[in-house]
Amino acid sequence: MPETRWWTVEDDSVRCLLCPHACLLSAGESGDCGARKAVPGALTVPGFGMITAEAPDPIEKKPLYHFHPGEMVWSVGFAGCNLHCPFCQNHNIARADPSIGRYSEAGEIVNHALLSGAGMLAYTYSEPTVHFEYLMECAEKASESGLKNVLVTNGNLNSKPAAELLAKMDAVNIDLKSWDSDYYKQVLGGNLATVRRFIEIALDHCWVELTTLIVPGDNDNEEEVGDMCNWIASLSKDIPLHLSAYHPSYLYRKAATPVSIMESMFRIAAERLKFVYIGNLGRENDTLCPECRTPVIEREYYRTKSHISGRGCPQCGTEIPGVFPVIPSRRTNQT
Ligand code: SF4
Repeated sequence: MPETRWWTVEDDSVRCLLCPHACLLSAGESGDCGARKAVPGALTVPGFGMITAEAPDPIEKKPLYHFHPGEMVWSVGFAGCNLHCPFCQNHNIARADPSIGRYSEAGEIVNHALLSGAGMLAYTYSEPTVHFEYLMECAEKASESGLKNVLVTNGNLNSKPAAELLAKMDAVNIDLKSWDSDYYKQVLGGNLATVRRFIEIALDHCWVELTTLIVPGDNDNEEEVGDMCNWIASLSKDIPLHLSAYHPSYLYRKAATPVSIMESMFRIAAERLKFVYIGNLGRENDTLCPECRTPVIEREYYRTKSHISGRGCPQCGTEIPGVFPVIPSRRTNQT
């Protein structure tokens, strides 16, 4: 079992310091995430290197719209999550036994990504950060092999491990699930202040996009969404925000988010931010130049066509924020 970090011994117990839950565990007990477990005098990750899902995806599926658009990313997932969202779309993985899956050394995952022809490796599907040590190992090997590292996360991670992990990443999509601290704590089992800090740290290290799943009656208050977007804009109006429509899943049976609510949320966000996208409604989500409204990246489902010239709009030259390398051989799913 590899050495783990971010814990301390308190009397006969071990306290995990990775995320704000700060679980105090007796030997044999697992933390709230289900992924980290105490043994006498130490903390372990029983599912270290156990991969529950592995597949090629378009980068747009993460979603990342301003990072290597049109390229493929090799995606891996693990059991465990340190939130308890009652509408989780990946609960089968998130709440699975951590020892399920197939063991893969970090180098094997990197080889799979290279063999697939993808230029990127994504840690995704459930909550990868609770597998901090394995991610660090994979990310280092991926970088050495010329792959980009991509993280898809709930951002519920303490600042010190967050800074270390994000320093290894090239891009991250972070869920910002609500602007209500009580909702974060009581319904999701998370900490809004921690997630906000995580986003700020990420901006110092890599390309950042945000996702908010709009759940009717939970987080569709117009004033709150406006305040959330004002805060994002105070960091940078260039941060892309993906507003995703909820569909019934896991413990939630209420009806899917109506189109009218998604349109209201979009309007509020687009008044404050330059790049807002609607997800889960089967809509086209072109990137428009914020100056002249020319479509600079066209999208139809996961097919992408970029018109970006150099770093900017082909019509007026306005710079489009993001990472848009010109490597034609990597652009595998363009129309
Ligand atoms: S990472 Fe897991 S064990 Fe550690 S504090 Fe968070 S929920 Fe608890």
